[in-house]
Amino acid sequence: MSSHSEDLKVLDWEKRLAPCHGPYPGSRKVYVQGSRPSIRVPMREVVQTPTRAHDDSGHPIDLPNPPITLYDTSGPYTAPDAVIDIRKGLPPVRLDWIRERGDVDELPEPTSPYARSRETDPALEPVRFDRVRKVLRARPGTRVTQMHYARKGVITPEMEFVAIRESMRLDEVLDVLKKQHPGHNWGASMPRAITPEFVRDEVARGRAIIPANVNHSEIEPMIIGRNFLVKINANIGNSAVASSIEEEVEKMVWAIRCGADTVMDLSSGDDIHETREWIIRNAPVPIGTVPLYQAIERVGAPEELTWEIYRDTLIEQAEQGVDYFTIHAGVLLRFISLTANRLTGIVSRGGSIMAKWCLAHHQENFLYTHWDGICEIMAAYDVAFSIGDGLRAGCLADANDEAQFAELEVQGELTRRAWEHDVQVMNEGPGHVPLHMIKENMDKQLAWCGEAPFYTLGPLATDVGAGYDHINSAIGGALIAWYGVSMICYVTPKEHLGLPDRNDVREGVIAHKIAAHAADIAKGHPGAQVRDNAMSLARFEFRWDDQFNLCMDPERAVAFHDKTLPERGEKMSHFCSMCGPKFCAMETTRQLRDLALREKGMQERARAFREQGGEVYLKK
Ligand code: SF4
Repeated sequence: MSSHSEDLKVLDWEKRLAPCHGPYPGSRKVYVQGSRPSIRVPMREVVQTPTRAHDDSGHPIDLPNPPITLYDTSGPYTAPDAVIDIRKGLPPVRLDWIRERGDVDELPEPTSPYARSRETDPALEPVRFDRVRKVLRARPGTRVTQMHYARKGVITPEMEFVAIRESMRLDEVLDVLKKQHPGHNWGASMPRAITPEFVRDEVARGRAIIPANVNHSEIEPMIIGRNFLVKINANIGNSAVASSIEEEVEKMVWAIRCGADTVMDLSSGDDIHETREWIIRNAPVPIGTVPLYQAIERVGAPEELTWEIYRDTLIEQAEQGVDYFTIHAGVLLRFISLTANRLTGIVSRGGSIMAKWCLAHHQENFLYTHWDGICEIMAAYDVAFSIGDGLRAGCLADANDEAQFAELEVQGELTRRAWEHDVQVMNEGPGHVPLHMIKENMDKQLAWCGEAPFYTLGPLATDVGAGYDHINSAIGGALIAWYGVSMICYVTPKEHLGLPDRNDVREGVIAHKIAAHAADIAKGHPGAQVRDNAMSLARFEFRWDDQFNLCMDPERAVAFHDKTLPERGEKMSHFCSMCGPKFCAMETTRQLRDLALREKGMQERARAFREQGGEVYLKK
């Protein structure tokens, strides 16, 4: 049993999660219904305050402003009427969709002997999440992946769900808020309107994935692809020296509140199986893992790894509901010598483990030689691949070298082989890359990997950002996402320094949300600028509450503003403490505009006067 976690069955979860739970400020949770009642797509609606104006006779009037719809990753945690019981998990919103397809069996018990042993070990009772439903697996001879259905021409409820989610009710937005620069999309094919058929087509051709394991029925489906909104992932997970299950659950809830689209549980310390179960059962977003970490934990050392242990770990995690696996199958034996002259060698945990295994046995990477067997497991539960970049550069000096691109080329081969099994795929990318060398990564990935979604860690644009690496990574992330990356993995301020805590997660998520959003705008994604336009109008009209509520981190914006102007009345001020009342450029510009309008009014009246004959009194 863990030395860190309390008895999770008696823990006061409500108190623990209170800071990251409850509605967003100034916002309503709304649901857009699809073609059936169970397709309820969550969105956040920021309720705006009215604009203060004056009528023709100078009387003050309030002109209403429309609510602004935002993409919402937070799940039921921000729904005012939701009853959250962490011990029971979230409602299985997808379960009926999965069952009605008629292609899964319910298993009487987990297939993995290791999973069975964990579920029956009395010592684990205080940290165990009690099983809530039976394991589902594809019926023999069938595949249950979204790609399989898409290729058969079937639009699943998951596809309809993401089409509504990505559209964000754009057709209801006022034209003034739709003002947008055309952007430069580097060859992406973003339609004006995202339809379920477009989603199906993108998934069928492998250009997008919907990570949605049949055993993770709690998720609100989302899509990762170059022609959709750029997504971000937040890594959580304990290590051998820090954290507990309750802290990791808390980080997950915090991450999705701040905007994480997926969460990777990279636990490598105590109770990995149990930690994951608590996270998955309470996660409305897809969960990714690196199964190798747990396989290593089971055998103790890289050399001891076997295909059998690894395979059992894959099945154990697939039956828990993990939605995507990072698998370092492109680290081939012959590539290891290519890293010999690097400054920092192999920096990926998974990459270094597999390199060590290959050298110890002098054999080809067993993840590569067993690729088809792995694909069959993935297809039986709909787990997507995130093909690992085990040879990514760990410093600028090693960026874009032979080893890195050799692995990327193999990723392309593995992608095509996975598609033969109808398995959904994304490719992982670097790492540490100077800004001017980032585009080459995107160009090669598009060319070699058949336009499968590219998922990158940053990249970090310099090696000297420790303590601020979330900013460093967001700079590289924004650039590569503009070029076409579909999802960027966040980096926290603790990168290279220690295990992130809850606040680091928040900082990392927000920094990368800004990067992803900046990329959407630069690509010209339809509607990407609506939120910015609403913010700019609120700023120009000194609607402070709207400014706070529309920004990426409302709590922080309010806190910063209130440091110097804390009174409620100061939320009406036509200035802030940055420039002060006499030098507020926004206010000066407003006054100029008012003057110009008044002037225009005077000129119009003078013209009318002249047109009427220039007489002071009109003749009857
Ligand atoms: S005082 Fe300066 S920073 Fe503050 S609202 Fe006015 S122009 Fe903007």
